[in-house]
Amino acid sequence: MKRTKISEVLKLPPNQQQLTVMGWVRTFRNNQFISLNDGSTIENLQIVVDFTTFPEELLKKIHTGTSLKISGKLVPSQGKNQTHEIIANTIEILGECDPEKYPLQPKKHSLEFLREIAHLRMRTTTFQSIFRIRNGLAFAIHQFFQNRGFVYIHSPIITASDAEGAGELFQVTTLDLNNIPKTADGLVDYTEDFFGKPANLTVSGQLEAELGAMAFSEVYTFGPTFRAENSNTPRHLAEFWMIEPEMAFYDLNDNMDLAEEMLKYLLKYVLDNFPKELEFLQQRQLDEEKQKPQNERSSMPLIEKLQFCIKEPFERLTYTKAIEILENSSYNKKKKFQFPVQWGMDLQTEHERYLVEKEFNKPVILTDYPKDIKAFYMRQNDDGKTVRAMDILFPGIGEIIGGSQREERLEILEQRMKELNISTEEMYWYLDTRRFGTVPHAGFGLGFERLVQFCTGMSNIRDVIPFPRTPKNCEF
Ligand code: ATP
Ligand code: MN
Repeated sequence: MKRTKISEVLKLPPNQQQLTVMGWVRTFRNNQFISLNDGSTIENLQIVVDFTTFPEELLKKIHTGTSLKISGKLVPSQGKNQTHEIIANTIEILGECDPEKYPLQPKKHSLEFLREIAHLRMRTTTFQSIFRIRNGLAFAIHQFFQNRGFVYIHSPIITASDAEGAGELFQVTTLDLNNIPKTADGLVDYTEDFFGKPANLTVSGQLEAELGAMAFSEVYTFGPTFRAENSNTPRHLAEFWMIEPEMAFYDLNDNMDLAEEMLKYLLKYVLDNFPKELEFLQQRQLDEEKQKPQNERSSMPLIEKLQFCIKEPFERLTYTKAIEILENSSYNKKKKFQFPVQWGMDLQTEHERYLVEKEFNKPVILTDYPKDIKAFYMRQNDDGKTVRAMDILFPGIGEIIGGSQREERLEILEQRMKELNISTEEMYWYLDTRRFGTVPHAGFGLGFERLVQFCTGMSNIRDVIPFPRTPKNCEF
């Protein structure tokens, strides 16, 4: 008999029909009730087992984690926790699961513990909720851009350029590290390497996306990016996914409008499509918050927070104005910031969160940052000090998007690259876009995991990616 997915079973009117389901046991109570999950929904299906009609040998093999094929009659349930149940006629064990060795027990496990068994944690309701929302968001991102006629560009994963100039690169090489070929002056001889020159994993697809925008006018990338930043924070991964739209004929205001519209579209998509998952995660968060001191608790439950961010227009102000606000804040006067505030500094998460959570109490877009703390390709303002940058800051997360209007004027761009010692010769392919029919353009990068963090209320970024990569951690 064909298998019916539990998601489908729960939609049927229960009227004694014969069905076959397959899945993994969540719990087996009183030798009588199996709670079965097959991952098609976060909900479990109750199976009623008449223990007098099945051999004891068989029943003894049913534990949390055992995989089963069950046929039986679908009937309305008398229980208060479910609407449907199946009265089992036949039970077949597909795979046994030793209860002494299986690490997932029918009780609450800590997220830290589950991270150690990342190959099994997807079987928990928490992670099924998170990864279903993650999957939905990936789909919705494509939908958002495809609906608007943007072209999806696959930017390369291996590159020879360091887009951000941040120097946090994973090198890609086929050289034998125990026997490195050297040049006459004792340096690594990269002509012997696979590409004949140094190469690395990409830190951003933006520069390549700009080439696409100069042909299609509106493009986006959505792919993995890699940063060897040795920062063990709850918001950084060594491997993460980034969405980078790039648009010709957009200025910074158009860029901000698109980013705000996109974020609201995505939050709404999650609210519309994942009510059960959100409900579950919200309850999980509320339980967790009870353990925290009052002042560290998040001010709004998850669902309300998503609704709130859709409704409110994001606050837009310049970096300079933000610094003024921070300087004059009572927080600053009471010396509550770990990093002192002054114009020219890169804002720390504590400052970003102050602006979002204390000052404005909604998402904030900061613009026009000092040029010295931003990348070479951002468009210079006439003041000679700032660039047309924009960062979008979210409650609980800090920076979720970084973007800018790009410098489209060849001489000014070349001048800036020289100041920063970036080779204009090696970057000829990028500068060619400014040589041959340059246009005003803009774009931004959305960190996918930070978005998933926000939508699921998870406080650690490692819990929103199936296989997190962080310093000293690359298992499975
Ligand atoms: P941060 O200051 O938080 O390190 P950034 O300024 O380095 O961020 P960008 O280079 O502007 O970030 O990258 C664009 C987006 O990618 C960020 O807004 C953020 O959402 C995300 N992002 C950056 N670094 C990481 C990381 N290591 N892990 C996960 N997401 C990241
Ligand atoms: Mn960074």
